[in-house]
Amino acid sequence: HRFQDFKVHPRIIENLLARGYETPTPIQDQTIVQVLSGRDVTGIANTGTGKTAAFSIPLIHDLVTHMDNRLLVMAPTRELAQQIVEEMLIFSKGCGLKIALLIGGASMNIQTRDLRARPRIVVGTPGRIKDHISQKTLDLSGFNRLVLDEVDRMLDMGFIRDITAILSKLNPDRQSLFFSATLEGDTKNLISRFSKDPVTVSV
Ligand code: AMP
Repeated sequence: HRFQDFKVHPRIIENLLARGYETPTPIQDQTIVQVLSGRDVTGIANTGTGKTAAFSIPLIHDLVTHMDNRLLVMAPTRELAQQIVEEMLIFSKGCGLKIALLIGGASMNIQTRDLRARPRIVVGTPGRIKDHISQKTLDLSGFNRLVLDEVDRMLDMGFIRDITAILSKLNPDRQSLFFSATLEGDTKNLISRFSKDPVTVSV
C-alpha cells in the first residue's frame, strides 16, 4: 500500500506527505484497513513501529467524516500522551478537530476550560482522566471511539482499577483499539472484557 491508496480524507494524506511519511509501516498497513472497516483491533507492537499513526490516521478520518463521533485515547505516561497529541495535531491540520490533553502535573483549570469547548478528541493518562470524571468536568458517555495505548505498561503501573472504571463510562456502542507489546494474563483479560470480536494485528 501507499498512503494514497487508503480511503482516507485527502487533507490527512496531504498532511502525512508534508510530514515526510511516504510509505506505511507494517503495523500501519495492517491496522488502517481494519479500523476503517469498523472492527475492534488488538495491535501487538512496540514503540518505534509507527503505532501512533496506525491508529491516528483512520480515527481522524472517522471523526472528520462522522461529526457526532468522539475519541478517547489513554496512555500510561504524560510524555506518551503528549507525543500522541503532537502527532494527531500534525495529521489533523486543517480538519477543524479540537484535541484536549489531560495529564497530571498540568493545570486542572486549563484542562477544564479545554473540555468545555467539547473537543472531539481527548488524550490523557488514567489518573487525570479519572479526576476529571470525579469533578464532573468530563462526561464520557458520548465517546464512541477508544484507543488504549501500551496496555501492558498501563497494567504494570497499577492502573487496572482506574482503567476499568473509565472504560465503563464510555458509550457502550463503540469501536475500541488496544495496543500492547505483549498479550498475556491481565492484558489479554482486559482486552477481551472490553472489545467486541477484535481482529489481532501483529508486527
Ligand atoms: P511510534 O511507534 O508511533 O512511536 O512512531 C515511531 C516514529 O516513527 C515516530 O517518530 C514517527 O513520526 C515515525 N513514523 C511513523 N510512521 C512513519 C512512516 N510511515 N514513515 C516515516 N516515519 C514514520
